[in-house]
Amino acid sequence: MSTARDPRPLTGEPLALDLLNTRWNRDGVVQDLLADTDGLAVWLAANGLAGTHPSGAAALDHLRAAREAIKAAVDGAPEQAAPLVDAVLEHGRIRARLTAAGPAEEPEFADPAWGPAWLAARNYLELLTRAPERIRSCAGGHCILYFFDTSRNGTRRWCSMAACGNRAKASRHYARSKEN
Ligand SMILES: [Zn+2]
Repeated sequence: MSTARDPRPLTGEPLALDLLNTRWNRDGVVQDLLADTDGLAVWLAANGLAGTHPSGAAALDHLRAAREAIKAAVDGAPEQAAPLVDAVLEHGRIRARLTAAGPAEEPEFADPAWGPAWLAARNYLELLTRAPERIRSCAGGHCILYFFDTSRNGTRRWCSMAACGNRAKASRHYARSKEN
């Protein structure tokens, strides 16, 4: 069992966007956590899905397909991306239940290897329902990270102030000092 550290610069976003954040730019080179099943194990653990979902090559393939679909939907034209997201969602469904603890909804998968991919696509629908305008990409020039803006005023622009926020501030300052 891999206990590798999560190497990503941004974690903790909702599942759909956390999936997009498995790719990031480090010194001009795009890194990919989902390059292999070791990275998949790190991602599953980071999202509380380790042990309850398959972590093999099929699950990795499906998750990468979900990542492309969600990225296309966030970045581009809905009419092209919707069928891609839909194709992932086809692999699962929600079963409504009454349990001793009250009403419950449980996802069901014909093929459990689709579980993580389906959960990410489903989470994207939830974000669209909650606040589609708050699904954003970082305003940092070379940054390819995404976030769900939960700030009160909806004014978050950066993956993090420490990374892109400060860089932007520094380059604005530099531009100003050159003008003077
Ligand atoms: Zn950024």
